[in-house]
Amino acid sequence: MTSDLEKKKVEKEIFLPKKEIEEIKNKRFRAIIKYVYQNCPFYRQKFKECNIDVDSIKTTEDIVKLPLTTKQDLRNAYPLKMCCVGKEKIVRIQMSGGTTGQPVIIPYTRNDVNQWKEMMLRAFYIANITSKDVIQITPAFGLWNGGFGFHFAADEIDAFVIPIGAGNTRNQIKFMKDFNTTVLCATASYPIRIAEVAEEMGIDVKDLALEKMLLGAEPWSDEMRKQIESLFDVTAFDIPGLTEMGGVGTVGFECSHRHGLHIWEDNYIVEIVNEEGEVLDEGEEGEIVYTSLNREAMPLIRYKSGEVSAVVNTDKCECGIEHLTIKRIRGRTDDMVIYKGVKFYPSDVEQILASYGIKHYKIEVGNGVRVFYEGSEDLQPKILKDIKEFVGFRPKLIALPNGSIERFEGKAKRLVRV
Ligand SMILES: [Zn+2]
Repeated sequence: MTSDLEKKKVEKEIFLPKKEIEEIKNKRFRAIIKYVYQNCPFYRQKFKECNIDVDSIKTTEDIVKLPLTTKQDLRNAYPLKMCCVGKEKIVRIQMSGGTTGQPVIIPYTRNDVNQWKEMMLRAFYIANITSKDVIQITPAFGLWNGGFGFHFAADEIDAFVIPIGAGNTRNQIKFMKDFNTTVLCATASYPIRIAEVAEEMGIDVKDLALEKMLLGAEPWSDEMRKQIESLFDVTAFDIPGLTEMGGVGTVGFECSHRHGLHIWEDNYIVEIVNEEGEVLDEGEEGEIVYTSLNREAMPLIRYKSGEVSAVVNTDKCECGIEHLTIKRIRGRTDDMVIYKGVKFYPSDVEQILASYGIKHYKIEVGNGVRVFYEGSEDLQPKILKDIKEFVGFRPKLIALPNGSIERFEGKAKRLVRV
């Protein structure tokens, strides 16, 4: 951090006592509901349609009375119809959404950029990333949120920043070697690709100065994490966050005890809902619904994120954090496969494949489910048995020679529907 005072502020917010979290949450929740009602025609109309008297919204328990916000609502709002501030207060935009259809635009005020940075600083604090680190930022600098999110915080702490952006893996490795990069920020599948290219270049990735990785933007399994950590001899952190909530690093972070993701409850309310939108109990798996409590340009109320998780517990973690803990993201609702009555996500299959050292795979869903992987055919009986036992179905397995499956420098596309 630039000053001890700022570091103290970050520390205090990470370790807020439950009682204080609840007070801040309730206060900000009441305020944000009034704020969107007054400043966002979309919410004003939506609340009116649902006969909601905003004065009757007193505590976070009243949240269930409010309607959900969907990605389609955000698409319909293109370019800035859900924005709560005038254009003169906007300092930047980022974009979310697929490659097709209407883009989803997220505007930021100066306060929003600061909020993004502050949340990322909490992650840096927990991961003990300091001004002594050399931070290589491999997500793109552009409308997607990855690059800038890491950059704002890395710049703030006066670290040695390498804002290299996406692609050109050989160059990435050259820079890691020549500048002794200690922290790599990347999509979760990228390190595996980096290791492969390094090998082609005759470089052992264990010899690099890398100590930590902040990996996100796609669901990845615990087994894949083990592979990455042992390949590189690093600690790999899962960093959640979505553009709609302000970008990478905003919603929470995991601590070294790895019980799940701690959600920054003074900034976000998280609910887990079923397909009907009903809130589920602790431990039950469903879709994450976020409410941003502290954003200015476009706060979202009960936003259906498409991310699948479950509340682990609401108690204090061993690390001392009293913010809510949820499971690491298992998948996205779009990537859910239902086959012969069994629901699964690509990360479930990855978990098994990675446990046999497999790094590259593809799941094809059509008439049946076919799992392509790079590795020995001899593994098939074991893999089949594990998938049947732990996921609950029998796919067709196809072993392929090394290099047969497409490689990605950004988000990996593991699931193909034919
Ligand atoms: Zn913890």
